[in-house]
Order: sequence, then C-alpha cells, then structure tokens
Amino acid sequence: MDDYILFEPSVKPLYEKNNEDYWFLFKNNKLMVFKEEEKSIIPRWNDVENLNISLYGTQYMGAYCGYNCYCGEIIDDIYEECIDFMDLRTLSKSVDEDTYLLASKANLLLNWLKLNQYCGVCGSKMYRKDSPSERAMICSNCGNATWPRTSPAIIVAVTKDDKLLLAKNGQFSNRMYGVISGFVEYGETFEDCVKREVYEEVGIKVKNIKYFGSQPWPYPNSMMIGFIAEYLDGDIKVDGEEIIHADWFSKEEIPGMYKKSFSIGSQLIEWFLKDK
Ligand SMILES: [Zn+2]
Repeated sequence: MDDYILFEPSVKPLYEKNNEDYWFLFKNNKLMVFKEEEKSIIPRWNDVENLNISLYGTQYMGAYCGYNCYCGEIIDDIYEECIDFMDLRTLSKSVDEDTYLLASKANLLLNWLKLNQYCGVCGSKMYRKDSPSERAMICSNCGNATWPRTSPAIIVAVTKDDKLLLAKNGQFSNRMYGVISGFVEYGETFEDCVKREVYEEVGIKVKNIKYFGSQPWPYPNSMMIGFIAEYLDGDIKVDGEEIIHADWFSKEEIPGMYKKSFSIGSQLIEWFLKDK
C-alpha cells in the first residue's frame, strides 16, 4: 500500500479481515473512543469483538492505509472506565486530522442512512442496494434512488495589499476572528457564492478568486471549498448580527486573534501569514 491515496472508499471490503481494522461507532451522534491520557483512540476490530455489543446500520466505509473501516450505531449502553463518547467538534481536539476526517466520513454515512429510510417521492420503505460498485438506498415501490451527498460551502481569505480581512461571528461566543464563509445556494457557482457571501457579510467586492483547497465539514455533511481573493471595491459594513465586527489586519496583528487548528479556515489564515 503506497501513500498516494490513503483512503479508498468502497462498498465491499477491499482487504482481508484484520484484527486492527477500524470501527467508527456512534451512539446519539457521539463517537465511541478509548481514552488514553489526552488522546482519543479509535477502536479496532478486536476491541469491539471483546465488548460484545449490539450494532445496527453497520456499513463498510472503505480502507485506510490498508485497514478496513466500518461504521455503525451502538444499541447497548456502555459503561466502561476507558471508553468515552465524543461529538466530532470535541474529537477534533484530541485526534490527528486523518482520524478526524475518517470519523467525519462515518458520521456522514450513518446520517445518510438514517435520513433515507422512507422514499421522498412515494413514502414507501427504502432498502440498501447490495451492489459492489454503488452505495445507494432504493425505494421498494417506485425505484427512486438516493446516494450519500455533500453540501458545498465556500470559505475565502480576502486580502487588501498586505492585510487580511477577518470577521468576528456573532453566533460564536469564543470572541475569535475568522475568514468569511457561507453555504452555496442552489445552482450557484462557487465563484458567485464567494462574491455574494463577502458582499452580504461585509459589503465589499472582490476580484481574482482562486482555488485554495477543500475540507469536509461534517455538521452533518458539508464540504468547505476554500478560496483566496483580492479586494476590489467598497467599504466594510457589517450587519451586527451574523458578523459583529470585521476589519483589515496585518501579519503582526493576527496571531492570537484566531483559533489555530487543522480547519481550512485556520489554514487560510496561516497561508496569509506565511506565504502572502
Ligand atoms: Zn418511492
């Protein structure tokens, strides 16, 4: 297994069963992990077998670095000293980025299954299509099919000469600043979404919109598409509710103003600090 593609999505197991295969198990939207000091450890096949617990909605996810990955929901209550249940935001602080992204994929698949038990067209029961090449839920009556999907959102770092636009969001109480983001509207291009969100949130126009990178945002199934852009025109004006303050900040001012993490929002700010 080389490291060109670390995660290989698949409906059917790609490798022989291994005691080290991963289990991403949720109960009430929280992931089961083993606690080890400050770290959270994902249970392996052996661990789950030893716990002897009942599961439902189990799915094969694919393989990570040659190990099969499974996800499912736990029926039983578990009271073990070494086991913890964590929501994904909390989890992100105690695991590496790959583990977090794997847990996000599991969360997405399990939510998709939950939300597609009944057909959106005729209301009949949906069933899981058992095909090696396709993960789908099919209506038993009319044949309507659904697949796991992601909802795009944009996130953009806007620069003006040697300064970066940062905004403080009114919904979060942590008083930290961040770059602008927002959900893509139906049928909207990512570029139009960048223009619209920046204009709506801070009242300025941008130019030279360039792709930066992407990252799943599993609350529950979004995908952040990151961009960088340059200031074109206008004065900063915030609505005072969604955004309570925004301004241009220099490299010297920014450290300490934002929450450092492996989130793409943090990566965009670090791109500005290092490379711009
Ligand atoms: Zn139907």
